[in-house]
Amino acid sequence: MPTVPQASVLVVEDEPLINQAVTDRLRAEGFTVHQAYDGPGAVAAFERERPDLLVLDLMLPGFDGLEVCRRVQARRPVPVLMLTARDEETDLLVGLAVGADDYVTKPFSLREVVARVQTLLRRVERASELLAAHESAATLIVGDLAISPRERRVLVGDYAVHLTPLEFDLLVELARMPGAIRSREELMSAVWGWSDATGTRTLDSHVKSLRAKIGAERIRTVHGVGYGLEPA
Ligand code: CA
Repeated sequence: MPTVPQASVLVVEDEPLINQAVTDRLRAEGFTVHQAYDGPGAVAAFERERPDLLVLDLMLPGFDGLEVCRRVQARRPVPVLMLTARDEETDLLVGLAVGADDYVTKPFSLREVVARVQTLLRRVERASELLAAHESAATLIVGDLAISPRERRVLVGDYAVHLTPLEFDLLVELARMPGAIRSREELMSAVWGWSDATGTRTLDSHVKSLRAKIGAERIRTVHGVGYGLEPA
């Protein structure tokens, strides 16, 4: 059973067999699934179908998954599960901070894709609950960082920084206790709503992209333990 009843997923993959296999499996799990096979088709289908989530292949005809991600995220924030051919590609994408929320490397199991889709959708539900909880929250100030949970805006000095939803939630979580080193498990469960061994790589990736956006020196790493936001 999908976490969000009737949640709709757009599967973007130019390899017809993979596209159909992922689609069939998600449908069997109760999702409404739309399909696209290239970059322009993906953006058009996104506009037309307004899916709750994208499963997005990186290498696509027309323009690639990176560009699809940029274009759709500019219109409406939506969780994106990116399909990559190699782990190195994932690292590259994380460095570019394209706004994908999770990555699966090919070859993947359909079970894994379904699990990741469900987790991302649960996260969105959780994020809207968090947002409601943050509605009255004041702006968090840490050094020259100003974080407004209500508006989901971040200023570094006078500059507005664009963060993905997960990067934002991670920053808010760190900013709640400036200077404190938070364990990976603690951060995973606070931000993602779950924690296991495979998740720490996802966390490390998001810390990396957050650093790229707000300044590497602001987040301290304690190897083998976790991360903390420098107080000033
Ligand atoms: Ca492809």
